[in-house]
Amino acid sequence: MDLKELIRDIPDFPKPGIVFRDITTLLNDSKGFQYTINLLTDECRKSSLSPDYVIGMESRGFIFGAPLAYQLNSGFIPVRKPGKLPRPVYKVQYDLEYGVDTLEIHQDALQSFHNVVIVDDLLATGGTAEATVELLKKIGCNVLGFAFIIELEALKGREKLPNVPIISLVKY
Ligand code: IMP
Repeated sequence: MDLKELIRDIPDFPKPGIVFRDITTLLNDSKGFQYTINLLTDECRKSSLSPDYVIGMESRGFIFGAPLAYQLNSGFIPVRKPGKLPRPVYKVQYDLEYGVDTLEIHQDALQSFHNVVIVDDLLATGGTAEATVELLKKIGCNVLGFAFIIELEALKGREKLPNVPIISLVKY
């Protein structure tokens, strides 16, 4: 199955000059979605990634991270935008092209001896994944690897990430 055929290119979204890779068409396709999760699972197994927890970033990281966690017999931990988690959080601020954003994780979600895999739909500049690594450093847990559906290679996001397996199923 060619996943690129299920990903829709939207020119000039969210602003002129950007081609947005829209995965809603992939999610819409029952066979395509199942194939994507199975492939992501196989790639994690090939890289010997068997985490205690899959960490997914709001919001598209939840869509792929939760079923991956289920397949890998792991727990799932959401990394959320500010103000959404009810118990005490660790937080990290990171730079966007214009302005800053914040990510949060529950302080009691996991401990330093746990192994994790970080999942998101797309790796672009790597800022979001790098910020998630910073967040997990506050806990001290071990990042085994990363899994993305899409990687925009020209933006060199993987150069910002630690030297562990970085899986991406579709490269542009
Ligand atoms: P980065 O932080 O620059 O690596 O951007 C990755 C984050 O932005 C991910 O959480 C993505 O969901 C989102 N993102 C950036 N570009 C796209 C796109 O073309 N399609 C879908 N999501 C995108």
